[in-house]
Amino acid sequence: MHKYVYLFSEGNAKMRELLGGKGANLAEMSNIGMPVPQGFTITTEACTQYYKDGKKINDEIMSQIMEYVAKMEEINGKRFGDLTNPLLVSVRSGARASMPGMMDTILNLGLNDEVVKSMIENNPDPKFERFVYDSYRRFIQMFSDVVMEVGKKYFEQLIDKMKAEKGVKFDTELTAADLRELAEQFKAEYKKQIGEDFPSDPKTQLYEAIRAVFRSWDNPRANVYRRDNDIPYSWGTAVNVMPMVFGNLNENSGTGVAFTRDPATGEKKLMGEFLTNAQGEDVVAGVRTPMPIKHMEELFPEAYAQFLDVCNKLEDHYRDMQDMEFTVENGKLYMLQCRSGKRTAQAALKIACDLVDEGMISEQQAVAMIDPRNLDTLLHPQFDAKELKKATPLGRGLGASPGAAAGKIVFTAEDAEAWKARGEKVVLVRLETSPEDITGMKAAQGILTVRGGMTSHAAVVARGMGTCCVSGCGDINMDEENKRFTLGGKEFHEGDALSIDGSTGNIYDGLIPTVDAVIGGDFKRLMDWADKYRVLRVRTNADTPRDAKKARELGAEGIGLCRTEHMFFEADRIAAFREMICSDTVEEREAALEKILPYQQGDFEELYEALEGNPVTIRFLDPPLHEFVPTEDKDIELLAATQGKTPAEIRAIIDGLKEFNPMMGHRGCRLAVTYPEIAKMQTKAVIRAAINVQKKHADWRIVPEIMIPLVGDAKELKFVKSIVVKTADAEIAAAGIEMKYEVGTMIEIPRACLTADEIAKEAEFFCFGTNDLTQMTYGFSRDDAGKFLNAYYDAKIFENDPFAKLDQVGVGKLMKMACTMGKEARPELHIGICGEHGGDPSSVEFCHKLGLTYVSCSPFRVPIARLAAAQAAIREQRQ
Ligand code: PEP
Ligand code: MG
Repeated sequence: MHKYVYLFSEGNAKMRELLGGKGANLAEMSNIGMPVPQGFTITTEACTQYYKDGKKINDEIMSQIMEYVAKMEEINGKRFGDLTNPLLVSVRSGARASMPGMMDTILNLGLNDEVVKSMIENNPDPKFERFVYDSYRRFIQMFSDVVMEVGKKYFEQLIDKMKAEKGVKFDTELTAADLRELAEQFKAEYKKQIGEDFPSDPKTQLYEAIRAVFRSWDNPRANVYRRDNDIPYSWGTAVNVMPMVFGNLNENSGTGVAFTRDPATGEKKLMGEFLTNAQGEDVVAGVRTPMPIKHMEELFPEAYAQFLDVCNKLEDHYRDMQDMEFTVENGKLYMLQCRSGKRTAQAALKIACDLVDEGMISEQQAVAMIDPRNLDTLLHPQFDAKELKKATPLGRGLGASPGAAAGKIVFTAEDAEAWKARGEKVVLVRLETSPEDITGMKAAQGILTVRGGMTSHAAVVARGMGTCCVSGCGDINMDEENKRFTLGGKEFHEGDALSIDGSTGNIYDGLIPTVDAVIGGDFKRLMDWADKYRVLRVRTNADTPRDAKKARELGAEGIGLCRTEHMFFEADRIAAFREMICSDTVEEREAALEKILPYQQGDFEELYEALEGNPVTIRFLDPPLHEFVPTEDKDIELLAATQGKTPAEIRAIIDGLKEFNPMMGHRGCRLAVTYPEIAKMQTKAVIRAAINVQKKHADWRIVPEIMIPLVGDAKELKFVKSIVVKTADAEIAAAGIEMKYEVGTMIEIPRACLTADEIAKEAEFFCFGTNDLTQMTYGFSRDDAGKFLNAYYDAKIFENDPFAKLDQVGVGKLMKMACTMGKEARPELHIGICGEHGGDPSSVEFCHKLGLTYVSCSPFRVPIARLAAAQAAIREQRQ
């Protein structure tokens, strides 16, 4: 029989894949003697089996669960539904990789009318009755919302109504009788919505709750989170069933969340939040703004001392910053969860460097523990210090996720998305955020919430996304319904400008200008380690000296792709380029190209200067020519006048360029085959620029790399190469200097992969253009796939956008074939990648495994690629 259920005492930290992160860590904490309520974990395999069985928990798994319920009852000396000693449990999700707030949790399970009644009768403490009804109404609400998917709002409305009737502000001010009444109202609401009585049998409750957690693996927000974080759907979630301990028992109880180091800055100090007389969801959901953890020391000195000890032990054990959930019940501490804490990129770097300095981890481990995607946030703009000095904050919340955000105010996640889609920068202002808001949060420059602490949903999710967030600004007087709020005596409406600082928590009226970030301190230290351990080189895709300089600052070791066409769009050269396109004869075309040549040469000289002798690959003209022709009447007339043609003749030429399928049309090397003079001009520009810059810098060794796009046949390349070589050799001879240069090709058509041996005979280097290669391998358009990809995600045909994350199975197989065949034909062949995938961490790892020489990506992704390349090398060494 296959084992689907494990007691905490049967597991350990190494069993993450099976028990999920939460289950494995609960087991580990139990093993090292920490106070953990003893329950069991249903494995991730049970979850995948549930999906295989058509979303059913099969009899075998169910009977194992019941067997473990009995064991748990035995261990804890309490029984489900028992009237003298009832067992109440929490049912919580826990995947292999942590997905905070994305899946479901049910607390206080096991309560029903009889259990409630007997619990109260058996306890003489008059305050106990209130606690029991408080737990009961929470359970009914949570079960209805999470398990049966009755909207939370119905219950919240009932609570608000009750508070208004009783004239109180907080839930804690409601009496036992009020809560009993609420529990009745909730059950009635359940019946109204579902058409059946609320289930009173604890085992039915448990079955339904486990099913709900399995189901939540597939909810929309979990799917979005997984896509963003590279977590495969096939992993599934485990379910943890654990006896409840009650932070809402009385004033001698409470609950909290804490980090062993500051998750925002990385500073080595205990950071956390605590609420008395509350359950964990109150802290995380941001319903009440909690107190800093140090207050716990005054309230519960013994539990606090024990907690400090636990923190030290856990950090020492896991050698990483821990995020912990705990509860104090009647003064006694219980640990409910520990995991490696989510942190800002800044904190991640500081923690990694500090752990190395503390002798806790090696440099390689430090490199391996940083999520490359996170680095992005460090490269985001900060407020211009001078401008910031001039500004006075209107108010202040908690600096929950660093960075600077300035934009127009929106009040809903949907508005954030819609405004972003039309090109607006927005700041999302909410009473509090909930997990449904995730796509809106992604669309915003920054997030500002009225309620919630550092561990609220908004704060946790924003940190994960690297989005600036200020949370818990209680001074805001919010009117969400009418889309307005007041702060610091000013009323703000939708569309008004606002700036927020996620580091200090300050909120400013108006837009404060921002400046780019720089690499220094811990960031530099870690990147230096990454460079020490990586094998792959990292280049950049840059078409302008400005981008090239930025990329150099960020560590690029060369240009892997300069798309020359981008240079033609500039105002001073588009006219000449259009003349070239609308020429009737070779002579006319050459005359127009002659005008462009000095511009191109100048551009290339600046690039060579910016790269300081490092390699620069210049790709020849690629897109179909119709992309460059004028569309406005006045531009057509102007072009007609300079060409000595009529506007009608120009329009006829433009019409003649139209293609049904331009991405598979007259573009790439096909342009050079039809108009060799274009390739000639570009060769002259490259070689002349290289010669000029080489002359100025004797210590640099410039070897121009000329790259021919969209080659599918070795003969195409041979033809274009012969033009390039003839032109280049003549230029070099005329200059009377020695200069080596290379002619290579993009590999971006499946046929090029299939005939890579032939092509390698002509090419001195390959560079994978995985944008086109993905497009042509799948046969769908890179510009239009967005329209149907969502349906593909929903149908689980795709888990990721293949234009963002390399399809290793299909496209990757072609790449592998091209590498093997290419190197067989020409062992010294160097191979890179310059499609968008060159900056995606999992794709970078694949490129490392393929043995590529370099990846090339946009400037801001260079540090991500450097780190991902180092991690790939370190992982390989460990295996
Ligand atoms: C590619 O196709 O991957 C590539 C880098 O070229 P472009 O995106 O310019 O077509
Ligand atoms: Mg391409």
